[in-house]
Amino acid sequence: MKQTQLYYALMLFFLVLCSCEDDIPLFPEENEFMSLSTKSSITLDENILQIQATMQKVDSTIPFFNRFKELYGNPLWQYAIPMGEEDERDISFFVPVYKDNTKKIINTIWFFDLVGDTLRYKTITRDNDSICYYQQDFVFDELSYNIFGDESTAKIKFEASPQTRSWVKEYYDCHYGIIQWGEVEVHKELYCKERTVWKQETVIDFTDNNPIIGGETPIIGGGGGGTPSPHDNKKLNASNWEQSIPEIKKKIEQLGCNIDTIPIALVTGCGSNARVIVDKETGKKRIEICYKLFDYEYEDQTSILYHEAYHCLHDKPLSNEDPMILDPPLLISMPIECENYLLKYVYFDCTNPQQFVAGDKIVSELYSPEYYQNEINAYKSERLVVPNVSTKYDAEREYMLWRYMLLGGHSSLMYNL
Ligand SMILES: [Zn+2]
Repeated sequence: MKQTQLYYALMLFFLVLCSCEDDIPLFPEENEFMSLSTKSSITLDENILQIQATMQKVDSTIPFFNRFKELYGNPLWQYAIPMGEEDERDISFFVPVYKDNTKKIINTIWFFDLVGDTLRYKTITRDNDSICYYQQDFVFDELSYNIFGDESTAKIKFEASPQTRSWVKEYYDCHYGIIQWGEVEVHKELYCKERTVWKQETVIDFTDNNPIIGGETPIIGGGGGGTPSPHDNKKLNASNWEQSIPEIKKKIEQLGCNIDTIPIALVTGCGSNARVIVDKETGKKRIEICYKLFDYEYEDQTSILYHEAYHCLHDKPLSNEDPMILDPPLLISMPIECENYLLKYVYFDCTNPQQFVAGDKIVSELYSPEYYQNEINAYKSERLVVPNVSTKYDAEREYMLWRYMLLGGHSSLMYNL
């Protein structure tokens, strides 16, 4: 038994040396733009991530989001309801917007209509004439109910699961809604969301190009993007990185993350590619790049720095700062492509690579679920907005995403115990 423990300890030691995981930001803070509420820990849909990145781009061109928040509140992205066909990307999202000082009720919906690479959006409030005329105002109640359950102060409550789900044009996603007086049910009706009515709203009235009201914009990261030129000699290294930062920051801003005010520094003694550090006293963030970053191609480096920028702007705070120690450790199984990635790119110069791979299947501590969710969102987002990276870095991203998704699932289970 003692020998086994020693083996784990040694393996852990080497793992730290060979690890490619990101260092953990010390005090990740909730970002205002994403500002998610606390209830749900689901990972965001890729379309939603693209919409967020796109709206952030809009905000960096015409700043509107602070005013939007003052007027309407915070978008609760994780409670977005999709409607339409994902495959052909003809899909809409109802994103509830919640103002903290109101009762437990949703009075604003940020409606997004995504067709191909074009995003139309509109801020729709409960008193919208056409929504009321077509009796679609129940959707505000439905979103309120989804978020607050029986504590919702909206008039109509809904039965939990969809009653019918029809793909016919007008009627889609219907739920039985109930109106009660006290304990007595006085009304029950099938309510169906009509996408066409909502879509109509985004078409009729967007002459006023004010993002607070609505608009139309190309979606970010819709494929294509700049292919890296093979003789690209922009690659960052220990002597040129400082001059290269302004250009990279600009590129990252075009991709939807403005990190103008966040300093970037090169540090020694860090084993990851780059990391975010938050100053304990001031709360200010900085991005630290590690020497390992210089082993990557220029596009990879851009993607890695975009990833850190995404953390700076979007991370949700952790519900627990300290990891949970697992005793006995958790043993995970690993798909063969992940093992191949580790052998080919991570442990290729270790004397006994198989032993390290075995070590990566032993998980001895778990962070709280938000940690994994932050990583998953950052990796998914960078994969979307910087699609053309080297084969090596692409494999690394896929591996990390697989690992964080798996561990995130375990973490949700363990922390909810
Ligand atoms: Zn990360």
